[in-house]
Amino acid sequence: MRAASVPVNTRSYNERMTVHHQTFDVAVIGGGLVGKTAALALTQGGRRVALLAQTCASLPAGAAFDARVYALSASSQTLLERLRVWQALDLARLAPVYDMRVFGDAAAELHFSAFQASVSQLAWIAESSLIERALDAALRFQPNLTWIDSRAQGLEVKPDAASIGLANGSVLEADLVVGADGAHSWVRAQIGSKVDRRDYKQTGVVANFKAGRPHGDTAYQWFREGEIIALLPLPDGHVSLVWSAQTEHARELLELAPAQLAAEVERVTQSLLGPLECVTPAQGFPLALQTVDRLIAPRVALVGDAAHLIHPLAGQGMNLGLRDVDALADVIAKKEAFRDLGDTVLLRRYERARREDISALMIATDGLQKLFSVPGTVARAVRNTGMAFVGAQPLLKRWLVSAALG
Ligand SMILES: Cc1cc2nc3c(=O)[nH]c(=O)nc-3n(C[C@H](O)[C@H](O)[C@H](O)COP(=O)(O)OP(=O)(O)OC[C@H]3O[C@@H](n4cnc5c(N)ncnc54)[C@H](O)[C@@H]3O)c2cc1C
Repeated sequence: MRAASVPVNTRSYNERMTVHHQTFDVAVIGGGLVGKTAALALTQGGRRVALLAQTCASLPAGAAFDARVYALSASSQTLLERLRVWQALDLARLAPVYDMRVFGDAAAELHFSAFQASVSQLAWIAESSLIERALDAALRFQPNLTWIDSRAQGLEVKPDAASIGLANGSVLEADLVVGADGAHSWVRAQIGSKVDRRDYKQTGVVANFKAGRPHGDTAYQWFREGEIIALLPLPDGHVSLVWSAQTEHARELLELAPAQLAAEVERVTQSLLGPLECVTPAQGFPLALQTVDRLIAPRVALVGDAAHLIHPLAGQGMNLGLRDVDALADVIAKKEAFRDLGDTVLLRRYERARREDISALMIATDGLQKLFSVPGTVARAVRNTGMAFVGAQPLLKRWLVSAALG
């Protein structure tokens, strides 16, 4: 055990926590949902954790729903249940998905159902801030967690510890650094992990609407002229839009007045859900595919979007990140007593455990995105015939559903 040194200007929610400790088992850098879940999983596993993050911002005044909404798979639900976060969620704000209807860009349509797949639901739709608030509440009660509201600026990996310089001037030491700092990860740059980034030249336009007709707990997806429009169910007859639009088109959509955007979404979805009323202003997120050559380095592991970035068409990026957390926590829980937390042998186990899942989802989402981007009638006929073929194969559909459930 290293000696604790100069006091650090940390902000701890727990009165019993001393802010004079500068040494930790793990330092989690980045407070998106993945980072906060990682910090919670590791501290519940008995580790002394420093989390560099901010608390969840409140929704803008008058906003009924968070603009950021996620489809969470069974694997994410299981992890959040184990961490006792799921149980704390306001169930009235969660929407189950029992059915999914996918419309090709010709006549083809695919229907997936939880009933046919013998599962309780295909996914849950949850607002980002709903989960984040529950995570914040859980983190607040962890005696071994120190919350630091500062950004990381310097990282030095030494044989006996990693040293992290903070924007507030303090320095932390930790056996292991978890880089959960998103797609433009600073941690990843420090370890020299090479990134291969392919811009989809698309922006994910998100907004929420009140629908005139019941959504029937169904998620809808339309493939249309190289763009993908999804309407996900939300409680109380609302739906959440994710429109993966070409950059220029997305710019136009983002400039529309709320009523105009609602009319446009209604038009392209052929009024399937009746008249729409925009209740959360639109926001845009640039879309890209990002692979990294290494998820680990001595004393460092990457999780979440810092480790992989995929197209949102399958709603799987967050689920993938939460599975990273699960795998890392599992490897650490099973570590031999003689091994240091930052031991490369240990971290390689994490990397090996994650490679296949990450590659499979990258290939699947990228493949689908490309398939529906190819212009021309022949390409359209081929992909819609493929959809019809999949639709007629109950076993294949079952397999696709189980793969998506994670
Ligand atoms: C339109 C759209 C729809 C999506 N829908 C779904 C869906 O339905 N289901 C799903 O599973 N996924 C979905 N995703 C993917 C999902 O949003 C991401 O995979 C997920 O948000 C990644 O979380 P993260 O915590 O890894 O990264 P982020 O959420 O990017 O968090 C990173 C955090 O690190 C902080 N940070 C950065 N640098 C530093 C530093 N130097 N020091 C300290 N902190 C730092 C940032 O401020 C930020 O808080 C969607 C994505 C998009 C774009």
